[in-house]
Parts: sequence; structure tokens; C-alpha cells
Amino acid sequence: MAIDPRAGILDIRPYKPGSSEAPGIAEPIKLSSNENALGCSDKAAEAMKATAPRLHLYPDGGATKLREAIAKAEGLEAENIVCGTGSDELLQLLGRAYLNPGDKVVQSQYGFLVYRLVAMQCGAEFVSAPERDYRSDVDAILEAAGDDTKIVFLANPNNPTGTYIPADEVRRLRDGLPTSTLLVLDAAYAEFVHNPDYEAGIELARERDDVVVTRTFSKIHGLAALRLGWAYAQKPIIDVLHRVRGPFNVNMAAIEAGTAAIQDRDFMQRSVAHNDEWVAYLRQQIGGLGLEVTPSVCNFVLIHFPDTPGKTAADADAYLTSKGLIIRGVEPYGLPNALRATVGTESQNRQLVEALADFMRA
Ligand SMILES: *Cc1c(COP(=O)(O)O)cnc(C)c1O
Repeated sequence: MAIDPRAGILDIRPYKPGSSEAPGIAEPIKLSSNENALGCSDKAAEAMKATAPRLHLYPDGGATKLREAIAKAEGLEAENIVCGTGSDELLQLLGRAYLNPGDKVVQSQYGFLVYRLVAMQCGAEFVSAPERDYRSDVDAILEAAGDDTKIVFLANPNNPTGTYIPADEVRRLRDGLPTSTLLVLDAAYAEFVHNPDYEAGIELARERDDVVVTRTFSKIHGLAALRLGWAYAQKPIIDVLHRVRGPFNVNMAAIEAGTAAIQDRDFMQRSVAHNDEWVAYLRQQIGGLGLEVTPSVCNFVLIHFPDTPGKTAADADAYLTSKGLIIRGVEPYGLPNALRATVGTESQNRQLVEALADFMRA
């Protein structure tokens, strides 16, 4: 008989990453995981390769060089940064460190799936606050979060919707929550957003001891394979994260590549410029096919399909896959009528639009 894990663990539906296979197609186009269309910085790749002669050595457990490089690039204090194996690990660590079984965790309706996993792993109660127009709704979150809420997770901007709420709304959320509630601001896509009313939340985390911001190298820096993220918060939170993280949680290749990546402003700027151009193209072209596209500030778009048999999201998904185009079904988010497509290279984006046009005409 199998040994029982902790209560609730077997209720978890394991996270399903974006697919990378299309049956019968040797080199499908993968637009299912919000990876960087331009790859990564050459300097980051070189720095990673240069670690080869040192692979027998443990990395610096404090990732000091990387934290200092992030601090310099972002105008922060290195001692208020902790790095993780993807921001994913940092979200898990926050759950492990702060959640007692039975504590309440609140998120916005279409929030990132990892938050639910974190809550379930910790035996916490998980509540979603309804959104309006696929946008996080501060009033609904405040209504859902009572005195017993330990963590509110807010992806801003959010995946899979691509929408954001302005800085003053985030402040209003923080002000409306009890000070015993930790507000986790997941700003995985912050670098793609230039709307003047947007902030990743760094200032808020600097001012207050009940806010933590998580960031990632997986998106703008194109280093998803290396698994690298960071968190910024006041000392007490950082201290807690250091206690629960593994002693060498960030590997040497990630430290070296991340350090080079955060200094490569040129690559970051090119990534943003590419995204600006092509996210607008996708929205306009796909919208022109009669499909609703949620306005996105990220490197992906959420496309809504009709109920009409033959024209549903599932039909579109199957059609695109048969053409070697892999995008993401978002049924696990409660969005069975939508698909999420990552901004690709120029040729990939054009192929996606063409295939969707064929699908709609068929
Ligand atoms: C992609 C993504 C992340 C990044 O995860 P990593 O573990 O750093 O690769 C975090 N949050 C959201 C909302 C994301 O979409």
C-alpha cells in the first residue's frame, strides 16, 4: 500500500507546462510558454558556457555576484534581494514559510496557476476573487480577503490575461488589507510594460514590511531553461526566505548567465521593441478575424473563441496543432473558450495569423 502524503497533496492537479509537441511535425512552432522570441543575450549564453571548467564546484550559496548585479541594474540594495530557482521557487518558499494549514490564500479569478498549487501544498484554503473584463478587481479581492487571509497573490500584469492594474490600485489594495496579510506581487512581465501608471511594486515593497515583489529571468531575459528568479522585500521577509531556501538553490550557470543578462540592456531593449511591434500586430490581425483579443501588456495574447461548433477554442487548438503551431489551452484557468498565444518571431507571428485566418474561413 502506498504511503500517504500529507492531507490535501493528492488533491493537487499537477501543473501542466505548455506543450512542445505536434504529432507528425518534426519542428513545430512553440508559442505556448511565453518564452522570449529573440532567444537570450549572447553575453548570457557565453557566461553560461564559461562555467564548464568549474562544474565540480558548488556555486556561491548567497548568489552574491548576481544579487549585486541586479541591485546595480535596478537601483536596489543587494541585501534586500534573494534569488531562486525560477520565481516559481520563491512563490513556493513564501508559501512554505508563511502558510499554516487552514490559512486563507486569495488570488484574482484568472491568477497564475502556481498560486493554487502553493496554497494546496501548504494545506491552505484557496479563494479566487472575481475579475471584471479579465482584469484584477481590487474591491473583489478586498471583499474576498478577511482578517484570516495570510497571503494575497497578485500577478501584475497577469498571465494568462495579459492585463494589469495601475500602481494606485495596487496601493489601494495594500492599504485595504490587514497588515497581517502578506501581499505577493508577481511582476514576471514588468519589463514589457511601459504604461506610465504601471509599477512593479518595488517602491511599495521598500516602504512596507508586508509586501514582496517577485521577478524572473525567464521572460525578458530569455533564460527560462536556467530557472532563475528574484524577490525584493524588507529585511524580515528576506531573512525568512534565506532560512527556508536550499543552501545552494541557484546554480552556477544561472548565476553567471543572469549576471551577464541583467547588464545587457541592449538585449532587453530589443526584446521590448520586438514585443511592442508584434503584440500590436497579433491583436490587430487576430481581432480583424472577428475574434476577441484581450488587450495585453505582456508577450502573449489571450484569444477568445465562439461557442459555434467547429469554431471553438478546442477546435482552433486542434487545427493549429495539425499545422505545427502550438499555443496554450487555458481551460485549467477556467477559460475553456480561450487560447493563449506567445509573441514569436516575425515569421512565426505571420504563420499564426495565417493559420487562424484559414481556420476561421474553413
Ligand atoms: C512565467 C511566469 C513566472 C515565471 O516563472 P519562473 O519560475 O521564474 O520561470 C512567474 N509568474 C507568472 C505569472 C508567469 O507567467
